[in-house]
Amino acid sequence: MSNGLSDRINNLSTSQTLAMAALARELKAQGKDIISLSLGEPDFNTPDFIKEAAKKAIDENYSTYSPVDGYLELKEAICRKFKRDNNLDYKPANIVVSTGAKQSLYNVAQCMINDGDEVILPAPYWVSYSEIIKMSGGIPVEVSTSIENDFKITPQQLEAAITPKTKMIWYSSPCNPSGSVYSREEFTAIAEVLKKYPNIYVVADEIYEHINFSGTFCSMASIPGMFERTITVNGVAKAFAMTGWRIGYIGAPEFIAKACTKMQGQVTSGANSIAQRATITAVDADPSVLNEMVAAFKSRRDLVVGLIKEIPGLKINVPEGAFYVFPDVSSFFGKTLRGTVINNADDFSMYLLSEANVATVTGDAFGNPNCIRFSYATSEEQLTEAMRRIKEALA
Ligand code: PMP
Ligand code: GLU
Repeated sequence: MSNGLSDRINNLSTSQTLAMAALARELKAQGKDIISLSLGEPDFNTPDFIKEAAKKAIDENYSTYSPVDGYLELKEAICRKFKRDNNLDYKPANIVVSTGAKQSLYNVAQCMINDGDEVILPAPYWVSYSEIIKMSGGIPVEVSTSIENDFKITPQQLEAAITPKTKMIWYSSPCNPSGSVYSREEFTAIAEVLKKYPNIYVVADEIYEHINFSGTFCSMASIPGMFERTITVNGVAKAFAMTGWRIGYIGAPEFIAKACTKMQGQVTSGANSIAQRATITAVDADPSVLNEMVAAFKSRRDLVVGLIKEIPGLKINVPEGAFYVFPDVSSFFGKTLRGTVINNADDFSMYLLSEANVATVTGDAFGNPNCIRFSYATSEEQLTEAMRRIKEALA
């Protein structure tokens, strides 16, 4: 029976990351001592030089609509960033600034995917990819990876997943949720496969580019032959602790950038003007301004990985970037813990919430039903306490 809503929204899953964060917030408001490791957002403040730029923009009356695809000065700064960090030669006509990388991804999906088109998702993948693709009429085709392979897809797996309906492949590197980082050699091998299928496009989500401890970073668009087939997605939310400012962007072939501009011209009219002005200073800043924050994330990564290794039954890889760990918890499936039967990762995650007061996100949301995700973007003290509680709840 109709509930008054469209099939589109009835069929859409709620974002599990945001839902778990909301639940944790609600329980905290009720007075529960919840440690939330659910939401992936830096616990640092936006750097002062960016805040100053925003204040200046307000005083200079940047209060009207910006061009739909973003201020030219911002697009030029983004081109400089792409050249400096990624050796990519984008021009302003290749850039579209949007209301967060999430909207950038949504624009691309709406502009590129027809009903029934298949989009390959190496799993685990970021929670919103599959829903954004489905909202655009596409069919997500999950390709499972394993902890033994460091959660990375092989060229053989990619080729086996390709069909005449394959339109795109979407991934993030560093990966949310696994933290895996693909090397240039690995991307070159993947590009070798794609060379045989010239109609397939790549969405390279590089939002965790700077939160990377591997010492290596490779943009797919910098692999010979891939520039014209890649949509590079990035933003300032993670690197500059600006999640609430809502600025993301793409570098893409001009016809795709034009399409995304047309799309958002009908939907948002463009991103927030003040946040755009502030983003100019962010992307123009030398990435070394992030050193302290990245060092803090690395030290937390080491701490959490060490503590998880001490918890019997949890299996993990060592993530090389982003700020998540993604342990395999399947050894608990079928067991009863303090009267609760754990059948799957959802049960496990809910058990940790009720018994340890620690909020996490089930791996199901990321296309891996054996794992759960912890965000370690919180203080070492909180992380240590969270792991102590989890160990106790599982003992
Ligand atoms: N891609 C990935 C892999 C993410 O983790 C996130 C989370 N914020 C986004 C895109 C969206 O970023 P934004 O906040 O800029 O919309
Ligand atoms: N990307 C973050 C996460 O995965 C923020 C939440 C979201 O945008 O879904 O937790």
